[in-house]
Amino acid sequence: MEKTQARIGRRFQGKVAIVTASTQGIGFSIAERLGLEGASVVISSRKQNNVDEAVEKLKGKGIEALGVVCHVSNPQQRKNLIDVTVQKYGKIDVIVSNAAVNPSIDPILLTKESILDKLWEINVKASILLLQDAAPYLKKGSSVIFISSIAGYSPESSMAMYGVTKTALFGLTKALAKEMAPDTRVNAVAPGFVPTHFAEFLTKTESIRTSLEEKTLLNRLGTAEDMAAAAAFLASDDAAYITGEILVVAGGVQSRL
Ligand code: NAP
Repeated sequence: MEKTQARIGRRFQGKVAIVTASTQGIGFSIAERLGLEGASVVISSRKQNNVDEAVEKLKGKGIEALGVVCHVSNPQQRKNLIDVTVQKYGKIDVIVSNAAVNPSIDPILLTKESILDKLWEINVKASILLLQDAAPYLKKGSSVIFISSIAGYSPESSMAMYGVTKTALFGLTKALAKEMAPDTRVNAVAPGFVPTHFAEFLTKTESIRTSLEEKTLLNRLGTAEDMAAAAAFLASDDAAYITGEILVVAGGVQSRL
């Protein structure tokens, strides 16, 4: 972490960033990274106590942070997230859409309709609806980042439908990059395996963890900070000529050409 702090600059000074599902894991690290680089960050998740704790942690690092409860599939809470941000900071420069669920390991053809609906609703539809609410405030130079997954390239059988929703985010990245150009850039990060709570079902078993590490070229799992560095790059002016792209951050795990 000290090494990271030594490397980071102040690319988001004066900027305002919303990160969904950001009270722990990859979302929290993205908020922290943007905040350490000068952004005012608006973090959110379903549970008030998680939001409060995360805000305290960020403030403890000298970051300007606001916490808002937002279950991404709740329309009022999504609208409130945008409204409260604009009321407090007057604008939105960066939106990172990070929330996802992976509720089933069933094969696609055996997955219940209610689970299919939930996957679509949280992993894809909520991102679209949040951006519909935010769009009037996204001015020239703004940036949207979707957190997809390498599972979107080749959905593994144990998380096949989840993978398909992540594939949909690749399409959404391309489609919205066109629709929101030239004022707003739209890109995605496709993380490899990161040992967060979300991935515990894979990474807590030593043998599975080792096999995942062996799939990488760099002999390790990713960290939330690795993902945050990539998201911050795409959201920053360093990526001013990049839109409609997917940045794979997976330690060399096979994903695409
Ligand atoms: P995580 O550590 O488990 O964190 C999940 C966060 O999301 C928590 O802050 C949680 O807080 C919040 N959350 C959960 N459901 C929510 C909802 N419906 N609305 C709003 N917030 C919600 O997860 P993660 O591993 O960082 O995953 C983040 C993203 O990275 C996901 O899109 C995931 O698909 C992607 N990803 C992860 C990996 C990996 O290996 N970890 C790999 C590829 C892609 P509350 O409980 O308070 O809501």
